[in-house]
Amino acid sequence: MQNLRRSLLWWYSLHARDLPWRRTRDPYCIWISEIMLQQTRVATVVERYRVFIADFPTLISLALAPEEAVLAHWSGLGYYKRARLLHRAARFVMQEHSGALPRTADALRQLPGIGHYTAAAIASIAFGEAVAVVDGNVERVVTRLLGVTKDGKLPTPGRIRTAAEQILAKEQPGTFNQAMMELGATVCHPQWPRCDKCPIQEICRTQGEHPTVPRTRLRSRQTAYGLVQRKTKQRGKVEVLLQQRPSDAAQMPDMWELPEVDLSVVEKMEPVLRVRHVITKTNHYVGVYEFIRPTKEMLEKHPIQQWANAETLLEIPLTGLARKILMRMDIMPRPKSIRTGHVIPEALDPFLPTLDAQGNPREDETGK
Ligand code: SF4
Repeated sequence: MQNLRRSLLWWYSLHARDLPWRRTRDPYCIWISEIMLQQTRVATVVERYRVFIADFPTLISLALAPEEAVLAHWSGLGYYKRARLLHRAARFVMQEHSGALPRTADALRQLPGIGHYTAAAIASIAFGEAVAVVDGNVERVVTRLLGVTKDGKLPTPGRIRTAAEQILAKEQPGTFNQAMMELGATVCHPQWPRCDKCPIQEICRTQGEHPTVPRTRLRSRQTAYGLVQRKTKQRGKVEVLLQQRPSDAAQMPDMWELPEVDLSVVEKMEPVLRVRHVITKTNHYVGVYEFIRPTKEMLEKHPIQQWANAETLLEIPLTGLARKILMRMDIMPRPKSIRTGHVIPEALDPFLPTLDAQGNPREDETGK
C-alpha cells in the first residue's frame, strides 16, 4: 500500500496537467471547478472556468448575481441544473455560513448541488480532510486494481469505496485524490488503458480493460428549428428571434432557443445547417431552416419571444444547441480567451464530443 501511494504521488508530481484550478487552494475556486467538471471534459472546462472566475471572482459576487447571468455563463456546458444549484448554494452559504464554505465533506453535502464526490473533492483539496474521492475515473482505477472476484464478478460499489478509503494517503489527501483522478483520466482510459505507462501496474490485478455493462443505445429524433433574422436601424447589425422554454420544462427550463418548427412545415425546404446534438440519451438530428419572418405557427406556439441583438447573445442563457447553431452560422461571436485574447479554438470549446467518466459521448455534432 505504501509503495502504491509513493509511486502514484511521484508519478503525479511529474505528469499532472497544469490546470488553472490546481494553482489555487481557494475553496470557492475549487468548488466552481468541481461543479463544472461533472460530466464535462477538462478541455471544455478550462476556458469556461477562467471566464467564470473572472466575472464572479468571489462567492459573494456569485450570490449577488442574477440567475440569468449565471446561466448565460453556463451556456453550452449542459446540465444547467448544476448552475442553478450552484447559485442557490452560494446564496445559502452567504445566509447560513457568513459567506465561508463549510470545511468538512459532511457539512458540504448539506449544500444544494453537492453530492458525495464533490464534497470529498472540495474537503480534501481545499481543507485537507482525509476523505477519498470516488468519481467515475477513480471507480474504474480501483475496479481494475482489485480485479474480478473468484466467481468472476466485479467489485461492488461498497467494496470500491472501502478500498479507495484504504488506499488514500491520509497525510496528503487532496494531492492523492487528484493523482487517482488524473491516472484514470490520462492513463487508465475506459477502452484503452495505457498499462505500460502506469505507475501502479505491478500491483494491478487486471492490467487492461475490464468487462463492462454494454452502453445504452441512444434514441434518435429528427427536429427542425427556424432561423429568423431582421436588420436593425444600426448598419450591418441583425437581431435574431429567440423563444424561451417553459418554466416547467423537464430539460433546460427558462433557457432561450431558436423556435422549433414542425417537420411537416419544412418538408420541402433545404436546411441552411445540419447538426447532430446529443441531449442525455437522445441523438437529435437537427435541421435549421431560414425564414424571412416568423410564421403564424411560431408566434402561436411560443408565446415568450424576444428579438436578440447578435452582439448580446453571449449574455443570454441559451441552450447548448442554440449556442452551437448561432456560432456555426457566424451570427454569434465565439468567446475569446481571457488569458490570450484569442478566439477559443474549436478543440477547446463545448462543440466537440464530450465524454462522461465512463467514456460515453455526452454531446456530438456534425458540421454543415
Ligand atoms: S495497470 Fe492498466 S488497468 Fe491497471 S490501473 Fe494501471 S492503467 Fe489501469
